[in-house]
Amino acid sequence: MPASLFTPDHKLSPYWWDRVPRPALDAAALPARADVVVVGSGYTGLHAALQTARAGRHTLVLDAEDAGWGCSTRNGGQISTSVKPAFSVLARRYGPDRAREIVQEGQRSLAWFGQFVAEERIDCDFGVVGRFHAAHNAAQFTQLARAAAHQPAGLEVDVQVVPRTEQRTELGSDAYWGGVLYRQHASVDPARYHQGLLERVLTAGAQVAGRCPVTQIERDGEGFRVRSARGTVQARQVVIATNGYTGTLTPWLRRRVIPIGSYIIATEPLPAALMQQLMPNNRIVSDTRKVVFYYRASPDRRSILFGGRVSISETDPSVSGPLLHADLVGVFPELAHTRISHSWCGFVAYTFDELMHIGQHEGMHYAMGYCGSGVGMGSYLGLRLGQQVLGRAEGRTAFDNLAFPTRPLYTGKPWFLAASIRYFRWCDRQGF
Ligand SMILES: Cc1cc2nc3c(=O)[nH]c(=O)nc-3n(C[C@H](O)[C@H](O)[C@H](O)COP(=O)(O)OP(=O)(O)OC[C@H]3O[C@@H](n4cnc5c(N)ncnc54)[C@H](O)[C@@H]3O)c2cc1C
Repeated sequence: MPASLFTPDHKLSPYWWDRVPRPALDAAALPARADVVVVGSGYTGLHAALQTARAGRHTLVLDAEDAGWGCSTRNGGQISTSVKPAFSVLARRYGPDRAREIVQEGQRSLAWFGQFVAEERIDCDFGVVGRFHAAHNAAQFTQLARAAAHQPAGLEVDVQVVPRTEQRTELGSDAYWGGVLYRQHASVDPARYHQGLLERVLTAGAQVAGRCPVTQIERDGEGFRVRSARGTVQARQVVIATNGYTGTLTPWLRRRVIPIGSYIIATEPLPAALMQQLMPNNRIVSDTRKVVFYYRASPDRRSILFGGRVSISETDPSVSGPLLHADLVGVFPELAHTRISHSWCGFVAYTFDELMHIGQHEGMHYAMGYCGSGVGMGSYLGLRLGQQVLGRAEGRTAFDNLAFPTRPLYTGKPWFLAASIRYFRWCDRQGF
């Protein structure tokens, strides 16, 4: 692939970081004691910290890298109801009542997100722009249309079927077989949102320390001894919010999440008329492939941000960039000569049951496993996690006490990933 596919000044770091560089945090010494130590400074960790700090608990957030360095400033900024399994699947697994609660929790997380950024006045390009979910073959379109017409009673969402003949009203592409429009789905600038959240956490009195990996957590009487690169802290309570970056610090959790790289490119600025043609209604877009493409216009509507999974095993953004570009051109042939200004990746956390999980293990609180949909849900479960740490009844969720499955011989390195992706790609090509 020619090097000219990249602009001369391209960056192998998130598009979002140009506008919101990683924050320089106060390098104050760590305290000897804290009421709550939170490991991980993404949406989950910061929302938990916001709750505990505002309740007057001395809260310390530690991150191995700069604050928000993980997925929370790398993602596509698409916000949905986040629960992947269908109601029928959940009902078979947990019974209809629990299934209903789980689906409703996803719907609640989406509604709550909009309220949160409005109440906190976080300036982050949030908008209820709607999602066009496109069918990559005729059979998938039939399934989408059927699902839209037969929604489970009491769980209906605002969804409109868009046949292929009308597709260009939503998306300037003929690559799909129609799709559905979820009007309530939203978009945000993920790094501006993270920055606004971080500011509120600091204002609430929490201390946030970057470049401070936590290396060991031991029980110490009623509390914990948290060892980090910058010293040891005695904590009454501990929150683990490490999601796709969960490592050997917490082996039990590491055996339950599957880190998977997700990759994005940003295009160089497009002419306004071309953007209007390709993304006429400014929707966020995803498709029915098992190895999904997700994309959107940047908040200023100058670039397209196109994400997906391009390789069997993890790769470098300099390699994934041109591969994603080829997929982008498959959707929008007009962009064949448009260059890439940014290419980057991050690690999401999948789970064996495709659900997110919140709970306690050995006395430590955790929430993780958003399966690639953690902007709304990671924020929402972070809120609930903070309330659970405080022992508040409103922290209860539909995910509480669900078994958090692992598999024999799985210790955190997904040796089966390449085979799974090959299989999913084959399914996509066959039209399943
Ligand atoms: C490319 C990409 C696109 C995505 N697009 C979307 C999207 O459009 N919509 C959506 O809903 N979701 C999307 N996601 C997923 C979403 O970004 C995540 O689910 C969400 O940000 C998870 O937040 P988190 O706070 O749980 O974890 P993260 O933001 O990943 O934070 C975890 C943090 O833990 C820290 N950490 C790990 N171990 C330690 C340790 N031992 N000591 C200290 N710190 C530690 C890491 O440094 C990291 O900063 C995307 C993800 C990626 C990578």
